Amino acid sequence: MPVREEKLYYGRQWINEEDKNAVLETLSSDFITCGPRVKEAEKAIAEYTGAKYAVAVANGTAALHCACIAAGIGAGDEVITTPLTFAASANCALYCGAKPVFADVDSDTYNIEPANIEKCITKKTRAVVAVDFTGQAVKINEIRKICDKYGLVFIEDAAHAIGTSYNGKQIGSLADMTCFSFHPVKTVTSGEGGAVTTNSEELYKKLILAHTHGITHDEELMEEDVHEGSWYYEQISLGYNYRMTDFQAALLLSQLKQLEFFKERRKEIVKQYDEALKNIPGIILQKEIPESDTCRHLYIIRLDSDRLACTRRQFFDAMSSENVQCQVHYIPVYWFPYYQKLGYQNGICPAAEKIYKGIMSIPLYPKMTDQDVDDVIHAVKKVAENYRKA
Ligand SMILES: *Cc1c(COP(=O)(O)O)cnc(C)c1O
Repeated sequence: MPVREEKLYYGRQWINEEDKNAVLETLSSDFITCGPRVKEAEKAIAEYTGAKYAVAVANGTAALHCACIAAGIGAGDEVITTPLTFAASANCALYCGAKPVFADVDSDTYNIEPANIEKCITKKTRAVVAVDFTGQAVKINEIRKICDKYGLVFIEDAAHAIGTSYNGKQIGSLADMTCFSFHPVKTVTSGEGGAVTTNSEELYKKLILAHTHGITHDEELMEEDVHEGSWYYEQISLGYNYRMTDFQAALLLSQLKQLEFFKERRKEIVKQYDEALKNIPGIILQKEIPESDTCRHLYIIRLDSDRLACTRRQFFDAMSSENVQCQVHYIPVYWFPYYQKLGYQNGICPAAEKIYKGIMSIPLYPKMTDQDVDDVIHAVKKVAENYRKA
């Protein structure tokens, strides 16, 4: 008998009536794109994160691409990132003609290790894309020091980390640029959506251009003297159409109102998991650094092969049979065929590869009931018990 009847998934959005009304209201307004809701959402993100500026974009991947463009990354440059991430954290360097370089993670926190970043630096290194994996902040102070020492741009991929703070400061206000995603599995959603925050006016201006064709209506930025009329605009760089719509922004604004509630509920569930799973033989939990007050996006359990007589696949499938659908975050990026064809070799980040082989993400989202949480705990205990080594 499975521990529950209905399948439980690892992540899911929570859309309420207020969210739906906000979208409908915007659809009936004059602007469904390039309107006031986008501006309001940008203001709300800047206020929440404590950053001076925020630019709303079409998705988290666009946020990373815009950040790389604003950082001036181009052909021949190198960008250091982690292999334990969604492919977009590395692809953004490739979009700019640069080469992603993978620095290995810490074996306990699974986050990129600053000492390993430093080892990867060459004359070509221009930026670091550090991912707050599962929502836990990276070692921001250490990475800041390295970036200052070598003149690198510090880009934080905080797709998992809205709501997290580091030494009491909100994520989004600390790196040179911080990128967020509002995909439905993330902590707040706009369907598809993303944002970049920064404290630098110079970077902000570049981000604005990057996400809207490199076209400006701002006379101060224009290069020609011919201002033929109020309709006049200029394309002054190569940009993209990476704009968020106003109905997405309306959804985002409404979701941001619930962020504190989402965060508290996530923390509650994490606490229950921590308490229940910390002493199960064969299950290793992710370690936290004290500087990070984490709004956890993913809850990862790691199998200890010395104590369990099963493969990760057997454990994963057994959880599935209990109707608890896990997921694996992430396959090391450079293992993908595309990266292999670019010449990346297996084995370059042994800690990340070892972690990958033993991990899975169990369900974590605010809409889970206490019963759902208990079911997951029950399933992990049952499967671990079944596979315990004699
Ligand atoms: C989700 C995610 C992205 C990409 O965000 P999208 O909005 O899906 O484009 C980038 N980096 C990480 C770490 C993510 O989890």
